[in-house]
Amino acid sequence: MAKKTIFEDCDVLVVGGGMAGTGAAFEARHWGRDLKIICVEKANIDRSGAVAQGLYAINCYMGMQWGENQPEDHVRYARNDLMGLVREDLGYDMARHVDATVHMFDEWGLPMMRNKETGRYQREGKWQIMIHGESYKPIVAEAARKSADKIYNRIMITHLLMDETKENRVGGAVGFNMRTGDYYVFRAKTVIVAAGGASHIFKPRAVGEGMGRTWYAPWSNGSAYALPIAVGAKMTQMENRIVLCRFKDGYGPVGAYFLHLKTYTENANGENYEKKWYDKTKELVGEYIDHHPTPTCLRNHAFIQETMAGGGPIHMVTKEAFQDPHLETVGWENFLGMTVGQAVVWASQNIDPKYTNPELTTSEPYVMGSHATCSGAWVSGPEDIAPAEYFWGYNRMTTVEGLFGAGDTVGGSAHKFSSGSFTEGRLAAKAAVKYIEEEKANDINVSDKQCEEFKEIIFKPLENYTVGRNEITGGTVSPSYISPIQGLQRLQKIMDEYVGGISYNYMTNENTLKRGLELLEWLQEDLEKVGAEDYHQLMRAWELKHRTLTSQCVTEHTLFRQETRWPGYYYRGDYMKLDDENWHCLTLSRRDPKTGKFTMEKAPVYHIVDEKEKKEAS
Ligand SMILES: Cc1cc2nc3c(=O)[nH]c(=O)nc-3n(C[C@H](O)[C@H](O)[C@H](O)COP(=O)(O)OP(=O)(O)OC[C@H]3O[C@@H](n4cnc5c(N)ncnc54)[C@H](O)[C@@H]3O)c2cc1C
Repeated sequence: MAKKTIFEDCDVLVVGGGMAGTGAAFEARHWGRDLKIICVEKANIDRSGAVAQGLYAINCYMGMQWGENQPEDHVRYARNDLMGLVREDLGYDMARHVDATVHMFDEWGLPMMRNKETGRYQREGKWQIMIHGESYKPIVAEAARKSADKIYNRIMITHLLMDETKENRVGGAVGFNMRTGDYYVFRAKTVIVAAGGASHIFKPRAVGEGMGRTWYAPWSNGSAYALPIAVGAKMTQMENRIVLCRFKDGYGPVGAYFLHLKTYTENANGENYEKKWYDKTKELVGEYIDHHPTPTCLRNHAFIQETMAGGGPIHMVTKEAFQDPHLETVGWENFLGMTVGQAVVWASQNIDPKYTNPELTTSEPYVMGSHATCSGAWVSGPEDIAPAEYFWGYNRMTTVEGLFGAGDTVGGSAHKFSSGSFTEGRLAAKAAVKYIEEEKANDINVSDKQCEEFKEIIFKPLENYTVGRNEITGGTVSPSYISPIQGLQRLQKIMDEYVGGISYNYMTNENTLKRGLELLEWLQEDLEKVGAEDYHQLMRAWELKHRTLTSQCVTEHTLFRQETRWPGYYYRGDYMKLDDENWHCLTLSRRDPKTGKFTMEKAPVYHIVDEKEKKEAS
């Protein structure tokens, strides 16, 4: 059913042209002057990924030139926020390079706000600097366009190709153009997956025609996880899904409100509800509740408990700050450069934050590796600081040879945000070039047979539809295929009810998780029968398949970790307490590509930063 087959051979293939992908394309050219660099993007890199609409702040900037923060400080910050469990080598590596990335953004014309008195970048908080960032994405996209040999827009990558000479080595990727229907084969020496995280695997709060109204971009469909999972790459911390506390219904950001406008939250009776839940939270997580700043999940936890106890709605107190005309302007501009929809929601609900304190909500869970959460692929760290167990030759290389990750793809390193993801793309690209230069990618063989087989698989949903629609006797209900939207809603219901979604106040346990896994397996079976009426629906079908594989991995991890490490992100009802004795570790999974079965293991957490300091002191 494919129209044409187009072959493209290259050295470095970047999958996804978001923040990490643009960083990778840019840096690959710096180190690999003569290499052929291709970037393949599902949308159009000028406006794709989580930063498509623009941002109002760069959330990760050390300010080392002014002595504001050091990389060690950032490691401690991320470690604290993730309740102790991060890959400190990866976090440190990103933090020591992130300022250089931001300085390039400045040179490329991104309008940075400056503090009038100090001349430094205007701080929104300890780590955030403020920008006029409506055009953030087109600016970084331009750097990628000038660096890559070619950018392919509107092509969805569905599978990775594997080398047939050497086991466990990548050989490229395949996908299709969702406008023309052409089949694309990219044979590559290295592949950098930078395809963003996963929204819409759990049932969203906004359903029906409002379904796209989620905090995380609805087009982020978990390819970053499904692609490496499918070829047997190890994954880490996939249970660490994220729940966001945001303005209700529009999911407008709260960072600038808390940090810059100094607004605060209260329950319906005007009380500070976070204090009320202190003792009970301490019973669950011990001294972690006394850490400063309070970990994001624990703040969510207080919100969720208060709402369940009938203290809602929870409001953001904006009435005081908005009396100051400057802060009022900042409050509105914050949405206009980033989440215009929130301003529209308030207008439609007669909310002027100067006179009405707006409601907040907690979102459905998402899977990400770059925000206040760290799900993703298990990758090698940098050679100078990674402990032996975290190092296998090339920075940011997954456990599949030649397959690299960056941004949301990479697990264990939280709080990278836009600048850190771009930086991680640069780090991965540098290592990928080294991998090629050191002749690790020689003699890769991807047979025509392998490519032909994927072609059959990829376009099958079109055939399912063409054949199956003949059996429809009335309406649109088909006896022999399901549509991508039907499959998506079924997935969301399973994840919501069995794996800790909103309908169950993020609660799950061993029994529900096991049942969830059964239902997910049957969904996988039925997805062989997904039908697509056109190329756009074909994309929806593959997005769904990637979401489902990601969901299986999330569920396996959630079952494996027998504790509630992040109350406020999810609860294991059968293990409600944080258990440092048994679970102060990272979780790893591997799905056997032949059998489809997952195996789980624990990996140690090394607190490198404080160890280093202890050694220096002694
Ligand atoms: C709502 C929201 C607000 C945020 N606010 C801030 C902020 O204020 N400041 C800040 O610094 N950071 C912020 N972030 C974080 C920042 O956006 C992310 O850290 C960053 O975008 C991650 O980079 P990435 O490249 O991994 O993913 P993305 O930038 O999302 O890029 C992924 C790319 O992959 C493409 N893709 C996906 N699947 C495929 C496929 N199968 N084939 C081909 N292409 C594919 C996508 O179209 C997309 O272009 C925010 C994130 C969100 C979601």
